[in-house]
Amino acid sequence: MKKLLSLLVVSCMVLGLVACGNSKQTGKLIMCTNAEFPPYEYKDGGEFVGIDVEVSKLIAQKLGTEVEILDIAFDSLIPTVMSDKADFAMAGMTVTEDRKENVDFTHTYQTAVQVVAVPVNSSIASVDDLSGKKIGVQQGTTGDIYCTGDFGESAIERFPKIVDGFQAMKTGRIDACVVDDQVAKAIVAQDASSYKILDTAYAEEEYAIAVKKGNTDLLNKLNKVIDEIKSNGELKAIVDKYIK
Ligand code: GLN
Repeated sequence: MKKLLSLLVVSCMVLGLVACGNSKQTGKLIMCTNAEFPPYEYKDGGEFVGIDVEVSKLIAQKLGTEVEILDIAFDSLIPTVMSDKADFAMAGMTVTEDRKENVDFTHTYQTAVQVVAVPVNSSIASVDDLSGKKIGVQQGTTGDIYCTGDFGESAIERFPKIVDGFQAMKTGRIDACVVDDQVAKAIVAQDASSYKILDTAYAEEEYAIAVKKGNTDLLNKLNKVIDEIKSNGELKAIVDKYIK
């Protein structure tokens, strides 16, 4: 009986290890992100690049380890951190009170603005003009949360990646997209004859890294590095590489 019990304990431990992909297993820091969000995280020739990717590498380096990237849907990021399958989520993620119920956030490292992008010849000129229109958002983002709250479920078209929302705008299926400013700029820069960004901002926000609730050890380590790279210019150098 004792033997059977210890066998059980050992197999649970093994299963437990296999089930979780965090740094306890690999020694590396596992960062989950959604690599559909230029200039913060995207793929270039199969490589993960962008501000968050470079910042996470710098953080790992300063902590004497490496970072491994797990590319998943935006609305899976918080559950993945909560279930220990990644050490942290870094994805241009806005700090919100609701999210704080499920994860802990580091000090912020970037400010952002939710903007409205429309087809270049659109008559939509302000946030108020969005009323009665079809609005594209990336699923689970603050753009989704604000627009659903302000304009109602039936006004919203959700996309797993916001570039698909821009495409839908081009074909006339939707009227506007609400998305983070730098991401809108990066997409519009690729196709400036099709889209424009309204001057009036929807909301201002701040980005931070999310860790599992109560993981103060990692939180403190990340905060220390964030403070350091904010004050010594290393963060700005990375941002300047991607945002001209
Ligand atoms: N900043 C937005 C949010 O946190 C969008 C982030 C994203 O799409 N990667 O909801």
